[in-house]
Amino acid sequence: MSVPEVIDVHVHYTRNRQQEKVVFNHPGWPDEWYNANPEGISEWFREEGLSHIFAINYIDINRIIDNRVARLAPGSAEEAEARKDLQGQMTDRVRQFNDWVVEHCQTESRVTPYVNVDIGVFFGDQQGMMDELEKQLAAGAKGVKIHPGLSRFYPGDEKMFPLYEKLSSVGVPILSDSGAAGGKAPAGSGPYGEPVNFYPVFEKFPNLRFIMAHLTTAYWDERIELARRFPQVQFDISGGFFQPNGNGRARDAHRCVPIEDAARFLKTIGTDRCMFGTDAPGSEVRGYVRTIMGLDLSDTEKEDILAKNARRFIDLK
Ligand SMILES: [Zn+2]
Repeated sequence: MSVPEVIDVHVHYTRNRQQEKVVFNHPGWPDEWYNANPEGISEWFREEGLSHIFAINYIDINRIIDNRVARLAPGSAEEAEARKDLQGQMTDRVRQFNDWVVEHCQTESRVTPYVNVDIGVFFGDQQGMMDELEKQLAAGAKGVKIHPGLSRFYPGDEKMFPLYEKLSSVGVPILSDSGAAGGKAPAGSGPYGEPVNFYPVFEKFPNLRFIMAHLTTAYWDERIELARRFPQVQFDISGGFFQPNGNGRARDAHRCVPIEDAARFLKTIGTDRCMFGTDAPGSEVRGYVRTIMGLDLSDTEKEDILAKNARRFIDLK
């Protein structure tokens, strides 16, 4: 098999080296190694063998807010007021990041822009969420990122329905985090992003184009049943496989699909439904490509996973 094309559908692309250095810090690294941004993209693509990426906008604004109010008495009026102020500021920050990525991609054809719009980052303001969605679609957004776990909402929350409805009607896809991220929901038994929590979305919006991220990570068993029930759902394999010798990519450690079962698992889901993704720059690209190349899959199956499924999904010429 010749060197395969690689498209990474799950990259947390940043504005510049400085931002990447803050968000994905590696103590001791020279600035020149922070390349998942417009300043370093050519070098990064060369190093990692990439031909195209999806920029998946997300800022963990709840964590930022929690950190900033940590010194105030929990439940106090002072804390509530500080939270409210910060929520407004952080939603603005998300809007600005969305503006930036869509504008940047007007002149950067190697990057497909996914904006972050969900009810969590709008703190329940459905009108604000829909205004942002309409604005970004008009500006040229090619997809929407949602994150039930970190944005703290259930994917089946009815407040999300107008967003799903709109995206179904215009054929613009969602890429959603799924699994254990963000911890347990207050009233439920599992995390917000547990795969079974997406059932109402797929039942009610069968034409919604949907990439469920982190196929191979915690709750992978639920994703097998989900894939069988909802043939319209696609997956990205960011999060990796569990390898006892450790490779720094398994997001949920031993809760990921073990490497010994990787090929069988991908075939069970359908190799035509699995897209290569890494969560870079938090995880490395080339090492994961090597892992996929080493699996007991046919050349066609590897090519599909590493690039062709994504190419077909976004109709990239
Ligand atoms: Zn991610």
